Amino acid sequence: SNRAPTQAIIAPNFKFEDMGIGGLDTEFQAIFRRAFASRVFPPGLVEKLGITHSKGILLYGPPGTGKTLMARQIGKMLNATEPKIVNGPEILNKFVGASEENIRKLFADAEKEQKEKGDESSLHIIIFDEIDAICKQRGSQSNGTGVGDSVVNQLLSKMDGVDQLNNVLVIGMTNRKDMIDDALLRPGRFEIHIEISLPDEAGRIQILNIHTSKMKDNKVMAPDVDVTELASLTKNFSGAELQGLVRSATTFAFNRHIKVGTMAGISDNVSDMQITRADFLSALEEVHAAFGVSEEELS
Ligand code: ATP
Repeated sequence: SNRAPTQAIIAPNFKFEDMGIGGLDTEFQAIFRRAFASRVFPPGLVEKLGITHSKGILLYGPPGTGKTLMARQIGKMLNATEPKIVNGPEILNKFVGASEENIRKLFADAEKEQKEKGDESSLHIIIFDEIDAICKQRGSQSNGTGVGDSVVNQLLSKMDGVDQLNNVLVIGMTNRKDMIDDALLRPGRFEIHIEISLPDEAGRIQILNIHTSKMKDNKVMAPDVDVTELASLTKNFSGAELQGLVRSATTFAFNRHIKVGTMAGISDNVSDMQITRADFLSALEEVHAAFGVSEEELS
């Protein structure tokens, strides 16, 4: 059929800066152009062009770099229904047929809404975390049951059902793009591949600013903390690790206010607690100790 694709609407007052994503501006621009630009135009215009929307994005790269964050924020930006996030390994079920049923259910709400509301249907985002877990098994000898095969086939048939799926966008995430069945990466399926890599120094500055903005606003960050310096000391840290570093620094600050030895309680001057440069350096030392990273490797 030739029904018009569903139009997404950018949430009013949306600003990329407010998304809380650091260091991924270029990636976001690319995702937006390739997956969403066509969706925010009136369906009639899109129909004139005779195109359909891309409906699958693969975000790949190391753990903790903001893939899930990006997928969620994109949903918010487009006023989509709350994304369904499913974990690849969780979809797999030892009972024959149950995994396929799980996949089918994921798409059911969107299908139902599209049937009932047509163009008025809102955008449904389905996120597959660790998608390699379900998609690497096709044709593999180790999987005698063929469960992996039929799950991938079910997913493919859902994604190939263009007409029913105008209101659906599927986002797959993986640390292992090389493990994914080629059939899933073809045009019409997960056709947009965006690498989300570890942040560079400028990205780390942005991420550290995001995760310290509240303490800065509330004046609990000491003036000697220099985010640029911290960024230079955190080569190869992911966004999640940078967030962990900030959290760890606060624990050192808290600890200074505990009357050690008595554990009797906190000191009276806790209201002027500050997170200092020294707290961040202690946190860094802790990370280095845990991972056995030498100072030279980091500089
Ligand atoms: P995984 O592959 O392990 O699922 P992921 O790439 O999906 O990882 P997220 O779950 O998005 O990573 O990151 C975990 C948390 O780390 C985020 O909720 C966020 O608080 C922080 N974080 C990660 N990357 C960024 C970033 N680029 N900017 C700001 N915060 C980030």
